[in-house]
Amino acid sequence: MPTAIVVINAGSSSIKFSVFVEWGAELRLQVRGQIERLFTAPRFVAKGVDGAVVGEQAWGEGQRLGHDGALDFLLGFLRERSGGMNLAGVGHRVVHGGLEYAQPVRVDPRVLAALEKYVPLAPLHQPHNLAPIRRLLERAPDVPQVACFDTAFHRTNADLTQMFGLPYAMFEQGVRRYGFHGLSYEYIASVLPRHSARAAAGRTIVLHLGNGASMCALHGCRSVASSMGFTAVDGLMMGTRTGNLDPGVVLYLMDQRGMDARAIEKLLYNESGLLGISAISSDMRTLLDSSEPRARLAIDLYCYRIRRELGSLAAALGGVDALVFTAGIGENSAPIRARVLDDAAWLGIERDTTANDGGGPLLTTAASRVLGLALPTNEELMIATHTRTVIRAQ
Ligand code: AMP
Repeated sequence: MPTAIVVINAGSSSIKFSVFVEWGAELRLQVRGQIERLFTAPRFVAKGVDGAVVGEQAWGEGQRLGHDGALDFLLGFLRERSGGMNLAGVGHRVVHGGLEYAQPVRVDPRVLAALEKYVPLAPLHQPHNLAPIRRLLERAPDVPQVACFDTAFHRTNADLTQMFGLPYAMFEQGVRRYGFHGLSYEYIASVLPRHSARAAAGRTIVLHLGNGASMCALHGCRSVASSMGFTAVDGLMMGTRTGNLDPGVVLYLMDQRGMDARAIEKLLYNESGLLGISAISSDMRTLLDSSEPRARLAIDLYCYRIRRELGSLAAALGGVDALVFTAGIGENSAPIRARVLDDAAWLGIERDTTANDGGGPLLTTAASRVLGLALPTNEELMIATHTRTVIRAQ
């Protein structure tokens, strides 16, 4: 009987899912989809690998499914479609594993309680990540569930890299740089040896440029530093997030503008970044297509912030052998890659115009001292792979 692994990535208003089927040693994607607008007008769609719709449903305006209702619906859909398939387990993307979880873990009620402790560290993501785990433990307690963490890959960072200049006791209490997008970086690290032995063995900076954006410095495919810190609002400017910000600005907003924590959170996470500067969109494609000066300014700042953070990570590594672009913008936007590569010419990077415009994977000339690559990330496959490994080990 074929064995399937379901991957769930639950956010604040949507649940994305993928179904992988074991094919010898391989895990092959069979179906992917999502239920979005969970609290307003839910809509479910599932597609096969060929893009054909294999399931679709819409609930009316004003209807609410919530995370629990969506998971129940999804279970029903999977049961209906799973004819003759053995569900080996469900893997979940969980943003925070804290100091305790440096590896994926099988979730039982005790582990779930431990993961709930990290809700205050990632209040906008962790509760939504945990909601389907809790529901599934209630509904199907025999189905193995595995939590895979966005922080885990960065647990190899040295203490010094993780520290803020705050009193040391705070570091011990967990106020430190964790880093995120770890599943994406781990996937890139896993495929890097196929593309370049030098990049895999040496000093590589990976740029995960999606709606959320960060950069990770790898040495020998292990994370040594990253642009995100205590929360996923740090580092690069993103679609709607500020990126790094003088903490004095937050104090000013509280003292002089009377803003409370929730108002500042909304400002920093939802109203800033590309959207905040352009006042047009958080979506890079829309901004690239726009002739509005503020759209251009938002792109200029986006690229400038990458240039600054790149310098910082290059210094942390003591040099760079390769740059790897990934995620929505990194994989698909030749103009943004061109700007970032040209801004990094001082590192010895020489862009190959035709290769970059063609989408890569190789982006640089034969003479370039630093290799440039564009590689698609695959966080879902990483989660499915971890889930299989954890389940098999038990
Ligand atoms: P992700 O979060 O990885 O799905 O990435 C989403 C971001 O990638 C959005 O800002 C999209 O506008 C951007 N994106 C996707 N395709 C392209 C493209 N062809 N050119 C520029 N940006 C793109």
